[in-house]
Amino acid sequence: MNDICFPPQNTLLSAEQALSRIQQTLAPIATIESVELSSALGRILATDVFASIDMPPQPNAAMDGYAFAAAGLCGDAEFSLRVVGTAWAGKPFTGSLAHGECVRIFTGAVVPETADSVVAQEQTRVEADRVYFAAPCLFQKNIRSAGSDFKRQERLIAAPKKLSPRDISLLAAAGISTVEVKSRLRIGYFSTGDELAPLGSALAIGQIYDSNRYLLAALLEDPNFMANDLGVVKDDPAALEAMLVQAAAQHDALISTGGASVGDADYVKQILEKCGQVHFWKLAIKPGKPLAFGKISDCWFFGLPGNPIAVLVTYNKFVKPGLDRLLGASPAKTLQISARSDSDLRKVPGRSEYQRGVLRQLDNGEFAVTAAGTQDSHQLKVASVANCFIVLSAECDGVKRGDWVLVEPFSLEL
Ligand code: AMP
Ligand code: MG
Repeated sequence: MNDICFPPQNTLLSAEQALSRIQQTLAPIATIESVELSSALGRILATDVFASIDMPPQPNAAMDGYAFAAAGLCGDAEFSLRVVGTAWAGKPFTGSLAHGECVRIFTGAVVPETADSVVAQEQTRVEADRVYFAAPCLFQKNIRSAGSDFKRQERLIAAPKKLSPRDISLLAAAGISTVEVKSRLRIGYFSTGDELAPLGSALAIGQIYDSNRYLLAALLEDPNFMANDLGVVKDDPAALEAMLVQAAAQHDALISTGGASVGDADYVKQILEKCGQVHFWKLAIKPGKPLAFGKISDCWFFGLPGNPIAVLVTYNKFVKPGLDRLLGASPAKTLQISARSDSDLRKVPGRSEYQRGVLRQLDNGEFAVTAAGTQDSHQLKVASVANCFIVLSAECDGVKRGDWVLVEPFSLEL
């Protein structure tokens, strides 16, 4: 057996150890490409971006109201000024503004050069060509100074960063229409198993539908990935070898499910040993004990277990961070929060567990979590009801109703 860089490991590996080995072994491979800003959402920014303009470019009004110079005025008593023109957003006031005069101004309009104050129209009353300002009147307010958002030559975004809607709008505001991002990874995925039937066919006895491939397709839905569905491989070593060798030549990473364990029909390990470098780990986590990680030619390989919930867990905990590393994205830390358990949770010490839970926020702001159902690793309906993992440490020997537990929400919406 060719080990990539670690000595053979027969003992159970913790999730942290496995993840750190994956992180150490993988190095960024993604090249760089230029994309239009309109298709850059979610991509990994590859080079720092700098501003070439001040934003706002000129001082502008933060309110609809009146602009004037405050020098010589006293805001403690009502005063009036003569309106000499209008400044619209996009249509600046071009005249000159003298003492005793003001300009009608709208939000976003350039503030006339000599003005230093904008007063909201709600604090004024108009009579003929004069505006009366109610006391007390605050001066030097309601003007967004030039460069108060960002300044010319300032670094707007440091790479690497996954571009958010806020980043996209920032870049647009700076007039940046194309950005350099990491090229997309080519990822192939397939299922293994003689029992797998395609959707649309009637199930013969002993068959199940191939849900893992749909799960992986959904998990790989990411603008940084070009995911290829490679179908199903039978529990047949020759077929598996042919698939691995051919697919490895065309992808940056391959992901398989099933056949990674120690059963008589589990060929992933054997074939990987033959065609590439491989490391098999028995992980101290539940679900998701066996995990194959290795390389065939230049292609990284993740051999996940067959049980659907084990696929969900191992993808999130090991594959996704590994793919992010290949991309050169900065490592993302999973949000963990404390919640009070509404359920007794069964757990034996030894492996850390990712139980499926339903998390909710209480009126007092605290979180409570309930087991989504029983916790077998084939139970997709329970996983569908769940909105979080309840993370139980290896040492934990069960949870009593009312205990605090750590929870990882699947999304920010509960
Ligand atoms: P294996 O790791 O191949 O021994 O599979 C473990 C369990 O996961 C078995 O019950 C399989 O039937 C099931 N399984 C394997 N692959 C899939 C799949 N693609 N979709 C749904 N279940 C699967
Ligand atoms: Mg199998």
